Formats: sequence, structure tokens, C-alpha cells
Amino acid sequence: MTPFSIAIHGGAGTILRSQMTPEKEAKYLAALKAALDTGYAVLEKGGSSLDAVEAAIISLEDCPLFNAGKGSVFNSEGRHEMDASIMYGKDLTAGAVTGVKNIKNPISLSRAVMERSQHVFLAGNGAEIFAREQGIAFEDDSYFFDQFRHDQWQQAQKEEGVFLDHNIAASDEKKFGTVGAVALDKDGHLAAGTSTGGMTNKKFGRVGDSPIIGAGTYANDNTCAISCTGHGELFIRSVVAYDISCLMEYKGMTLREACDEVVMNKLVKIGGEGGLIAIDRIGNVELPFNSEGMYRAYRKSDGNGGVLIYK
Ligand code: ASP
Repeated sequence: MTPFSIAIHGGAGTILRSQMTPEKEAKYLAALKAALDTGYAVLEKGGSSLDAVEAAIISLEDCPLFNAGKGSVFNSEGRHEMDASIMYGKDLTAGAVTGVKNIKNPISLSRAVMERSQHVFLAGNGAEIFAREQGIAFEDDSYFFDQFRHDQWQQAQKEEGVFLDHNIAASDEKKFGTVGAVALDKDGHLAAGTSTGGMTNKKFGRVGDSPIIGAGTYANDNTCAISCTGHGELFIRSVVAYDISCLMEYKGMTLREACDEVVMNKLVKIGGEGGLIAIDRIGNVELPFNSEGMYRAYRKSDGNGGVLIYK
């Protein structure tokens, strides 16, 4: 049988067992499993890695537990500005959006940019005009409202801080969150996608790594598919996703060696906290992170898999 596999993440950061209740943990595990199963079912039926990645990310965007789509954090104006990107390893096509408001599923808008525009990266108002033209679903502000996120934001405003969703201590209940998926389909094609609400109280049109092809997301059938989560500024400076692909392509490293070098060495040296999910062209999966934890799950056609949170 041709191997196929999928991996997803729901964000990395200071995720401590000591701060988790059994109920909360069960909710996260169930949400991750639901997204994983959704994507895996697409691959099992012979669907493309691109369809699997989009389906898994939509499931995570629709879940308020994660900082993407419905669960997106508040920016400094009390709004939700989302970033997303998607890339297909088959032909190196890619689509991305940044600073979009009221879009129900930013990952689907990214895919529309990739498949139905002449461009790769659309921002803000222009991206929303394109979304309307393409019949992409919008939601009112109330759809994105979440009391916990609102409290996080109020706290951030008081402290005049800008916080990564992972590390905010606005309450005992911590939510973590950018989401992503990578997949290898039965035809041997790789795809990767990432979606996020960015950082709580962000201003000045701040853009993280998630929508940047090569930084937060990358896929190339010759090497690997990668989706990152962590301190975006450091991930941009390290061009993380493309660097892993390059280490495989130019240095002949395995997926594991390349992930190790970037996440456990290069990123650590500059203080880049976070992690990523990765799949190579023969279906190997790596889920490295240098933070306390990372919401993650994977499933391979050889029967291996798991849904995990801590180290
Ligand atoms: N990387 C994302 C950003 O900087 C945040 C995250 O992964 O949670 O926008």
C-alpha cells in the first residue's frame, strides 16, 4: 500500500500538566482527535493532501479552544485579525492572507488565493474584498467573541503588553493556539497549512510567521511539509520551515536531523520558543518543540499515531 499520513498542531507554549484539569485536557484531546480523524478520512478515501490539510484546519478553526478562526485572540482595537497560509508540495503553489477580519475559515481563503487569484499573499481589506467576490463565508464579530479571550485582552491592555497566546497568564486557565496541519497523500504529494489569530493585543498591523511561506508554512514534494507554531518574530528571522527543507535538500539530512538542528539548536540559540509538525515524502512524521508542551496529533497508514500535549 502507498503510505500516507497526517499531523496537526494546536499551538506550542507553556503548557503544564500542573495547570490542566482532567476536563480541560479531555476537551483538547477530543478536539485534536476530531480534526485528525477529519483529515485522515480524506487521505484514506484517496483525497489529496491539500484537501486533508484544509479539512483538518477548518475543524480546528471552528473550535473555540484554539487561537484561530472562531477562537482568535483580540488585537489592540478589540477586534480579531487573522493570518493563514497553505502550500502544495506537488507544484509549489501557495496562498496566504494576513490581517483579515470576520472570515469564518481563513485557511479556505488562503486556498482561494492560491487557486483562484494570480497572487500568493493578500492583506487586510483587499483580501476581504477578494473573499466576498469568491463567496467565502463571513461571520459577525459576535461569532468570534469569547469571554476568556476578552479577559486576556483587557489584562494585556492594562499591562500595555503584547502577548503570545501560549504564554499569557491572564488567568489560571491558559489557552494555546495557532493551528496547523501537514499531510502526505496516496499519490505522494505533500501539503502544509497554518492558521492563527496571532498575538493578544497586537497592533501596528503586526504579522507573524504563520502566513509567511517559508517561515511558518512550507511544502515541497522533494523534501517535506512543515507547519510552525511559536514566537513568530523569531520564526520569521530563522525562516524555519524553508530551512528544514533546505537542510534536507542541500545537506542530505533526514527529516529528524533537520528538525532537530532547527528547533533544538538554531531556534534555541536566538530564544525562539515553539515547535512544528513535519512530514517527509515517505510519510515519516516529526513533532519537535522546545517549549513546555505542544498540542499535537498524528496518524500514519501503517497504524502508528497518537494525540499528545506534554513533553
Ligand atoms: N506563530 C504565531 C504568531 O507569531 C503564534 C503561535 O504560533 O501561536 O503569530
